[in-house]
Amino acid sequence: MGLRMIPPKRLKKVKSYNSQEVLTRLKEYLDGNCDEPVRILCGFWEDQQDAITYQELRQAVREGAISDETLRLWQQDYSILVRDKLSPLWTDALAAGPAGQPILDGIAVELNMQRPGIIKWINERGAEFVTRSSQEQRDAIASLVSKKMRDGHTVDELARLIRPCIGLTEGQATANAKYYDTIVATLTREHPRMSKESIRKKALDASRKYAERQHRERALTIAQTESAFAYNRGADEGIRQAQEEHLIGQCKKRWSTSGDDAVCEICASLEGTEIGMDEEFGFKGKTLFPGYKMLPPAHPRCACAVEYIEVSPPVFSEKGG
Ligand SMILES: [Zn+2]
Repeated sequence: MGLRMIPPKRLKKVKSYNSQEVLTRLKEYLDGNCDEPVRILCGFWEDQQDAITYQELRQAVREGAISDETLRLWQQDYSILVRDKLSPLWTDALAAGPAGQPILDGIAVELNMQRPGIIKWINERGAEFVTRSSQEQRDAIASLVSKKMRDGHTVDELARLIRPCIGLTEGQATANAKYYDTIVATLTREHPRMSKESIRKKALDASRKYAERQHRERALTIAQTESAFAYNRGADEGIRQAQEEHLIGQCKKRWSTSGDDAVCEICASLEGTEIGMDEEFGFKGKTLFPGYKMLPPAHPRCACAVEYIEVSPPVFSEKGG
């Protein structure tokens, strides 16, 4: 056999059992628990699309924005969604979090859901979610009724285009409008005898189907990210509870990225970073809610985890734990 040059493998740090384990458990949790929130969110946006009248849509096109009244109603919808559907799921994810930490294996921490840290977190998370989701929705519609869009389309055309885009982000709505325009242009060029009306109808059908896929994409992003927020927060509260009960000692937390090619630059630079329990990981970007930078996810669909490492034994307490 001849000599063969083997290209050197990219150096990859071997993860410890525990830092791999926190990732595996987080992934298993997310894989098993995102179908329901996706279904809930898609159904929620469908209801919002059905609720808005054609007249309101035409008015939004003429005024270049949805009305304050519609925004207020959307905020109300989101508040009810959070209260009735999402916070119970977040609560489940919080409760599941401690089981994700090998350091708590065998200690059987049953997270007390009445801990102030948990109640405060759910409230703040919910409020931020409602505000941001309604804003995003308004910005998405604003992009569809911009001056440029109004110059190139009829009021009727835009009013019809908006409805299926309710619940999309601004970027998604813009992509959807572009898709619609491309289909209109292609059909006009390739079928010069086809009526304008049937061209618009075909394009609208296509963009509606595209919007459905976009909604599922977005729902999955929200489901994964929000579940990860709650699960990781639950783990953190579980560690704190175990410390209060003198079951474990002082801990530091260590960032663990999934280590595959999908890891973004932000997270790759955080790999292995170790900080104290109350410190923040200094990743870039806006702080979405209090304590946002204390734990992953660092961005939508970030699958990173934190591993807690005990640095000193628990304090002996005569009263017992
Ligand atoms: Zn990440």
